[in-house]
Amino acid sequence: MKNYDTIIVGGGIIGLATGFYLTKFGKKVLVIEKRYPGAGSTGRCIGGIRQQFSTSGTIQLARESLNLFKELEKEFGFSVEFCQSGYLLLAHTEEQKSIFLKNIEIQKSFGINVEFISAKDIKKEFPYVNTEGILGGAFSPEDGQAFPFLVLKGFIRGITKNGGEIITETEVSSLIEQNGKIKGVKLSNGKIINSEIVINAAGPWAKELSETVDIELPFVPERHEAFITVKIKKFDPIIPMLVDYRKDGCYFNQRINGQIIGCYTPVPNYPGKSTKETFEFLYEMSRRTVRLVPALEKVHVLRQWAGSYTMTPDGNPVIDKTEIEGYFVAGGMSGHGFMLGPATGKLLASLIAEDKFYINMSEFSLNRKFQSKELLK
Ligand SMILES: Cc1cc2nc3c(=O)[nH]c(=O)nc-3n(C[C@H](O)[C@H](O)[C@H](O)COP(=O)(O)OP(=O)(O)OC[C@H]3O[C@@H](n4cnc5c(N)ncnc54)[C@H](O)[C@@H]3O)c2cc1C
Repeated sequence: MKNYDTIIVGGGIIGLATGFYLTKFGKKVLVIEKRYPGAGSTGRCIGGIRQQFSTSGTIQLARESLNLFKELEKEFGFSVEFCQSGYLLLAHTEEQKSIFLKNIEIQKSFGINVEFISAKDIKKEFPYVNTEGILGGAFSPEDGQAFPFLVLKGFIRGITKNGGEIITETEVSSLIEQNGKIKGVKLSNGKIINSEIVINAAGPWAKELSETVDIELPFVPERHEAFITVKIKKFDPIIPMLVDYRKDGCYFNQRINGQIIGCYTPVPNYPGKSTKETFEFLYEMSRRTVRLVPALEKVHVLRQWAGSYTMTPDGNPVIDKTEIEGYFVAGGMSGHGFMLGPATGKLLASLIAEDKFYINMSEFSLNRKFQSKELLK
């Protein structure tokens, strides 16, 4: 029987990034994935990366992640289609505008390049945006996008190159705990694999897995749908991630290959892990997209799909140890797990390998009160 320093359950961005950075610390890592890497939320996300958040912890985590994304091409030896095409958060009300202005102050105190620009300047900078009813927007040219499957591919190659292992089509049925310490995992085929450290990175399924050792996680998955269009000529400048916070808003950007990719948050929320897509989404998303950028009216949608946001009560993730020695959790990533993934993985690896986080992670502790709210979900 092989020995592993760490077992990671889940081959999404969180599990694979953590595995990669742990192998860089020389740890012998095993990642166990019940289907294939990216089969969960990561392969269903739209690849947006931003630093515009409202709390200091998330801003720092996002900034760290952005810095890591910038390095990935060098790290992996191939492009992950990372591009700083920007995020423009649109304010339609005075209340939204004042929230953005307050957040910009906090973001700037951490060195983020972000400004509030007027509707007139939006029209000048991004002439294709229909600015009717828009008071202005928070724009950061540093934010951007990357291609999730290429990022996963890089982490997978890195893990195996550094001596780690990944097994797919293999489900962990329970965690094993003895006298307050984690001992390993049991697979659904009955096999037991031992390790003194186990990380639960099972995304929308993390809560159920944790219940097998009686650790309650405040995670609630919600269905979110997305679409992507055929490739079209790139706009000049390329369409940044336009985030329309109206009740019937949406968010989309242009990928660097020309496709338009986007989603919206359904009101009311649609709890559960269903990945069933709907015609209503296709119709509504098309309407909302064209309302914001009328020039997209004749563009064909290529595909639509659905996946999960794993929500917490305050909209921020849990990245922490638990009261069971050796059992760690990284989840509840809401709509931000892709962008926060590299930093989450690196920080968790440093907690496990060096017993420290190198930025203040108290906002992400499992035992916090979950009272504050991430305003830019
Ligand atoms: C439509 C949509 C758009 C999004 N857009 C963005 C975006 O633009 N930017 C962004 O940052 N985020 C976005 N997100 C959110 C992002 O996708 C998630 O936050 C992120 O992928 C979570 O990663 P994860 O590794 O925690 O989970 P997952 O990717 O779900 O990985 C968990 C893995 O664990 C495996 N697993 C579960 N249980 C077990 C078990 N018992 N045994 C073995 N394996 C198991 C699953 O098969 C899965 O592959 C979006 C999400 C959706 C649905």
